Amino acid sequence: MANQEDIFKNIISHSKEYGFIFQSSEIYDGLSAVYDYGQMGVELKKNLREFWWKAMVQMHENIVGIDASIFMHPTTWKASGHVDAFNDPLIDNKDSKKRYRADVLIEEHVAKIEAKIQKEVDKAKERFGESFDEAQFKATNARVLENQTKIDSILGRFKDALEKNNLEEVRQIIVDCEIVCPVSGSKNWTEVRQFNLMFSTSMGAVSEDSNVIYLRPETAQGIFVNFLNVQKSGRMKIPFGIAQTGKAFRNEIVARQFIFRMREFEQMEMQFFVRPGTEMEWYNYWKGARMKWHSTLGLGESNYRFHDHLKLAHYANAACDIEFDFPFGFKELEGIHSRTDFDLKAHEQHSGKKLQYFDPELNQSYVPYVVETSVGLDRLFLSVLSKAYVEEKLEDGTTRVALNIPSFLAPIKVAVLPLLKKDGLPEKAREIMNILKCEHACAFDEKDTIGKRYRRQDAIGTPFCITIDHQSLEDNTVTIRYRDTMLQERVAIDKLQQIIDDKVSIKKVLQSLM
Ligand code: ATP
Repeated sequence: MANQEDIFKNIISHSKEYGFIFQSSEIYDGLSAVYDYGQMGVELKKNLREFWWKAMVQMHENIVGIDASIFMHPTTWKASGHVDAFNDPLIDNKDSKKRYRADVLIEEHVAKIEAKIQKEVDKAKERFGESFDEAQFKATNARVLENQTKIDSILGRFKDALEKNNLEEVRQIIVDCEIVCPVSGSKNWTEVRQFNLMFSTSMGAVSEDSNVIYLRPETAQGIFVNFLNVQKSGRMKIPFGIAQTGKAFRNEIVARQFIFRMREFEQMEMQFFVRPGTEMEWYNYWKGARMKWHSTLGLGESNYRFHDHLKLAHYANAACDIEFDFPFGFKELEGIHSRTDFDLKAHEQHSGKKLQYFDPELNQSYVPYVVETSVGLDRLFLSVLSKAYVEEKLEDGTTRVALNIPSFLAPIKVAVLPLLKKDGLPEKAREIMNILKCEHACAFDEKDTIGKRYRRQDAIGTPFCITIDHQSLEDNTVTIRYRDTMLQERVAIDKLQQIIDDKVSIKKVLQSLM
């Protein structure tokens, strides 16, 4: 069996071959960590965005959406803390000249020690069988304890160093852990420096300091500055949420792993405004609700886990990530943060405008607390793609590559295939296509053998193929072939629409969230 790394490479080349994702400006050798979505990718991305939007906005009476601009008044980013504190600690290896995020080097080192512990646990589990008590084993086994102590010590020092912004200590941890550059294999490291991740540009004809504006590094601030506009014009009562999807930009230091870490990406965020003191209740509510949403994608519940933040951002009093098991391991897919009243208060101070809510039940005004859910659309796309991609050996010895994308998200829902290019079959197929295309994304394909055409549709994740043959002309029936089972059945043309509607309906998925 191919290893994860090979599979990931295959997924990347499959994405390109079938029009899901291209490197940006490829004819000029590309632009690092920037990608374009092709004809299939744009459909899958749109369907994912729509599913998120419907689940968030349409399904909640107290959540509304907005679409704020990417450009915002520069003071926004001063108030939010991004000008002063949106930094990553970077370190260079002097031999390979490669640049790394110091925190990532340390976290990866810790993950390796964690893997050692897991190995001991797995070995013991096999030895002791049914009677194995994992908690007791971890609490008593000498090797596990030794490694756990190492982890605790590294993380303790690291947390402390970050809190004190002590970059020398961060470097010292890397040195003490004997972390080597994966490229040169050397421990020849530079100092650790802070690097601001915001892109800036200038507005207007004259470029002076005062004209510097930023490309937003998160969509959230567009929501905060519009908090009162929405609350007043929509007569919203707390608790309520404002949702938004849109582009965000970060000058990432280490931009690898395909669309996982991009310099231009899309976020889907929802800020939920609550009464102060109730934020932990809502934080826990949204943790559960978001995990449930992810599980309806059917990618397997064991592929998700929560990860509590070690160091809280300057604005948060609780924060966790929903991590997903990507082909390169568990990594952040979505962040859930209890942002307190930090942002609204900061905007009050910097703008001199009150951003308060009058609570009629308490008969008092206050700055609401905020619970945020923030998921990267591109990472979500990668999660679906990486679990949907399958290479199967078939009984006849051939292999088939299929994308088992959940039907309601598939870029093309139905392919309409006349068996032959003659005898009136294409005309009959067009009639069917015309019925279905008003409702669903359809493809029409009359080239090559039917087997080849099925494979092409499997490769882009089309859940249903409709084949029109001579019998169709006689009795108005067609065969419907299912991507996942490859089974075919004969159905009446006038039943077709209902069958397809039912199978690709987003309605059932939304109902399962209630
Ligand atoms: P990371 O630790 O991976 O850099 P983050 O904690 O900085 O991510 P947040 O600021 O919480 O990320 O942003 C919310 C979401 O936006 C993330 O969960 C992720 O899905 C997405 N996201 C953030 N940065 C990127 C990026 N460079 N490329 C693609 N998606 C991103």
